[in-house]
Amino acid sequence: MRKVYADNAATTALDKRVLDAMMPYLTTVYGNPSSLYKIGNEAQSAVESSRAKIAELIGAKSPNEIYFTSGGSESDNWALKGVCHALKSQGKNHIITSKFEHHAILHTCKALEKEGFEVTYLDVYENGIVHPIDVENAINDTTAIVSIMYANNEIGTIQPIKEIGEICRKHKVIFHTDAVQAMGNVPINVEEQNIDMLSLTGHKFHGPKGCGALYIRRGVRPQTLIEGGAQERSKRAGTENVAGIVGLATALELAINSMEERTQRLTKMRNRLIDGLLKIERSRLNGDRDKRLAGNLNMCFEGIEGESLLLMLDLKGISASSGSACTSGSLDPSHVLLSIGLPHEIAHGSMRLSFSDDNTEEDIDYILKTVPEIVDYLRQMSPLWEKIKKEERN
Ligand SMILES: *Cc1c(COP(=O)(O)O)cnc(C)c1O
Repeated sequence: MRKVYADNAATTALDKRVLDAMMPYLTTVYGNPSSLYKIGNEAQSAVESSRAKIAELIGAKSPNEIYFTSGGSESDNWALKGVCHALKSQGKNHIITSKFEHHAILHTCKALEKEGFEVTYLDVYENGIVHPIDVENAINDTTAIVSIMYANNEIGTIQPIKEIGEICRKHKVIFHTDAVQAMGNVPINVEEQNIDMLSLTGHKFHGPKGCGALYIRRGVRPQTLIEGGAQERSKRAGTENVAGIVGLATALELAINSMEERTQRLTKMRNRLIDGLLKIERSRLNGDRDKRLAGNLNMCFEGIEGESLLLMLDLKGISASSGSACTSGSLDPSHVLLSIGLPHEIAHGSMRLSFSDDNTEEDIDYILKTVPEIVDYLRQMSPLWEKIKKEERN
């Protein structure tokens, strides 16, 4: 049976070239970067050249603005908690974010609310895009930070980051963006786009899991999240994940170098898939059709349960998701689909497919053949579908 991995927004396969670059640091160059002898120095210079490479790739002014972390979740936690705790004594106790952020942001906001911080959750409207004017209207004298994701992980919609950054700059408010899904897939430049802090993680662009970074603009001073040794300029303790860091930088370089070509190829493939699947009766595309990541498709099929669809797809060799990997297993409909105004029963029948360099036109052919068959089959035994058809007839 054909195998199609179409869940690249959950994680990606490690690129062989990335593994090759990491290998020495998993084997012979095992020294601690903080040690003074040669094998430690070698590890340290690998960490520092990776830092410099990442800084250049995202348009940072200095490698000192890149801090390595354990991934996207830690970077998001650090950005929000670090800034809020640092600015609290100046009377800043307000956060602005959006309703459809990743849980690494939303749950951190909930935790900060329990500590007494106030959070404004901005609407993302039907197309899944934040309006910059709403950000401006929400800013007040107590606003510590604005955190708006670059691209949504479920519906792939891309946000007006530069405009939001401009507004934050004008009002002297720190602007953080969770760029985990966007990194390597859209052009990002922290200087040109007025970004003060940015989260990224390696495993979303064919790098290793458990290694990411937080960009912190010079002059922005979040409190430390992980206390201990003096690593990362005493801002984030813990012996460096040397192989992971080398893998992160290598993967990012590869992703950015192939971005243009991949974007063109995936956009074409995805649009063909969208057009094909929209022929299914009572189906809909979630999120703006054009302002979305090239590799993202998110659709609803009325009258069926997303979970059953995913299980059936798995039996046919297709790995898909109902949205966020972190929430599947829970029966609540996706907060992202609810945020764009879908009613509960429709949000339940959703499917996210996300593609990468590894996917081919043959994958699309196979999905185009398989999904309509499964949707048909599930609808035949769905009481909900029966009800929909009955209402149609009346
Ligand atoms: C995957 C993801 C994260 C979490 O990153 P980890 O490295 O898995 O902790 C955060 N935000 C978004 C938008 C993501 O897609």
